[in-house]
Amino acid sequence: MYAQQGFHDSVESRSLHVANTIEQINQGKFDKFEIHGLSRFDDEKKVVLKQWVKTGVNATRNALGVYPSRLIFHLVPKKSNQPVPWAYTRRDNPQRIYLHVDSRFPLQKFIDDWTIYHEISHLAIPYLGEKYAWLAEGFASFMQYQVMGKAGILDGTPEQHYRKKIAPHLKWFKSDLPPAAIARRLMNQKQYPAAYWGSAYFFILADNAFSSQHNTSLARLISQYQLCCHARHGDVNQLMNDLDTLLGGSVMTKLLSEFEHQPAREIYPIEFE
Ligand SMILES: [Zn+2]
Repeated sequence: MYAQQGFHDSVESRSLHVANTIEQINQGKFDKFEIHGLSRFDDEKKVVLKQWVKTGVNATRNALGVYPSRLIFHLVPKKSNQPVPWAYTRRDNPQRIYLHVDSRFPLQKFIDDWTIYHEISHLAIPYLGEKYAWLAEGFASFMQYQVMGKAGILDGTPEQHYRKKIAPHLKWFKSDLPPAAIARRLMNQKQYPAAYWGSAYFFILADNAFSSQHNTSLARLISQYQLCCHARHGDVNQLMNDLDTLLGGSVMTKLLSEFEHQPAREIYPIEFE
């Protein structure tokens, strides 16, 4: 019943929504992004940090389309052994991205770091709630390498990175429990790399189905989704329905059902060849 509302309400209201969004894009409404917290850095570091955020926004937008909301960043100084030791998104209105940064690192180290692409990717789909935090993290983890790959800032292919990241965690999925239950448990136990990368496999399967059966990619579908449907729903089933409607198939709804109900050992490989 829920699926009959919203996205499916009427073709007329949907095309009106898309037309309005395109008009706003053409007016440059979403071109700008905000950076807060720069006053805590000296002038030289400000230039580097601004350039980094701009690179992150452009790369993510290039892969996942125009975001139908202004991107707002908060920078927080933090001494560390890496350029971006900690980051998160706040999904309230407006949504915000918090990046803790060690500005002693040079620009290239910031650009090569995956964090900003991961955080901006989160905002390409609605907040799905605690129950589907594993899926949201799998999505952002999958997308960070799609974005970096397309921007030419990834050393190797996205596939090589996925295998390397997922391989150590396949052991958790040699189980009769469904992947969704395993991923939720890993999240609860704060086994974040296992939960994130185990869940990223969901989107690898989706992307494979898109390219082999529908001649498209998950990233391309998300860029269409951002234009037509984003910010209208926050329900996981609605998201899957919307993506399948755009696709003209039933890949996402079927995959989510499998991840909720099918034994993980039937879905995940024992190891990558
Ligand atoms: Zn994340």
